[in-house]
Amino acid sequence: MSAIIIDGVAMAKQVLAEQKARADKLAQQARPPGLAVVLVGDDQASAVYVRSKERACRDAGVRTFDTRLPATTTEAELLQKVDALNRDPQVHGILVQLPLPAHINAVTVLQRIALAKDVDGFTWRSLGALLDGHPNLAPCTPSGSMLMLERSGVPIAGRHAVVIGRSSIVGKPAALMLLERNATVTICHSRTTDLAAMTRQADILICAIGRSRMVTADMIKPGAAVVDVGINRSADGKLCGDVDFDAVRERAGWITPVPGGVGPMTVAMVIANVITAAERTIG
Ligand code: NAD
Repeated sequence: MSAIIIDGVAMAKQVLAEQKARADKLAQQARPPGLAVVLVGDDQASAVYVRSKERACRDAGVRTFDTRLPATTTEAELLQKVDALNRDPQVHGILVQLPLPAHINAVTVLQRIALAKDVDGFTWRSLGALLDGHPNLAPCTPSGSMLMLERSGVPIAGRHAVVIGRSSIVGKPAALMLLERNATVTICHSRTTDLAAMTRQADILICAIGRSRMVTADMIKPGAAVVDVGINRSADGKLCGDVDFDAVRERAGWITPVPGGVGPMTVAMVIANVITAAERTIG
């Protein structure tokens, strides 16, 4: 059996086309949606991520307000910038690109983003709303993963979903979203004693670990849906996920590739959140 490959590039393209229609409608009402992207310092990987988000914004009809600050920016200066963006009516979403320089407390900065503009969904209030089943703007990587499952026709309700990883930006919110769709959910992590015994029970397996090709074919229940969130560099320098794709695809029912899987969907979901935030300002 060879798995259905869930093509994140094609699906993201489709999601972005849908967002363009929503953005055009807002523009006709003189309310073009706008995203502010704040980049502090000169981390190369961050600059690449920011450029890809800005490109996707352009394609979807979302204006971007670019803030590049030097690595010497103080925490107080950055907080002032976030406050100004919180007040700016042209800005509907704010992204502060991580990592921030070591002298800046990222938690303090992220918590300063207004709830209505928290398009990453990382603030405690957004995460609390998700926990309570009333999402504000949902974190984009897990919501992109959920959309990939849903649009591929993967059954979720009543199925056993196993999430590997318990971070606040991927693992925990992914588990909450699966629970909200009536899956039975198990969360595994670095201290789980027999990971393979857990993953072999998974109808849906979400891998958000950050370890190259750690999830092997013998850990997969035949026919399972496998979502690979990980972005890693293998020993040969190639981009790869947490899943041993070539072997696992022979056993799974559905699988997302890396690159070209969850990554592009994450960007598309950021844009969907910006547009939702903009729509809410006009009721
Ligand atoms: P993180 O480091 O915060 O969390 C990793 C989790 O994996 C932890 O909860 C840890 O307990 C678990 N873990 C580590 N080693 C393990 C092991 N041996 N067995 C079981 N669990 C183990 O990372 P994160 O921010 O959640 O990101 C996870 C991965 O997803 C990274 O590769 C990251 O680059 C990637 N990521 C991708 C996107 C995207 O858009 N595709 C977005 C965010 C993160």
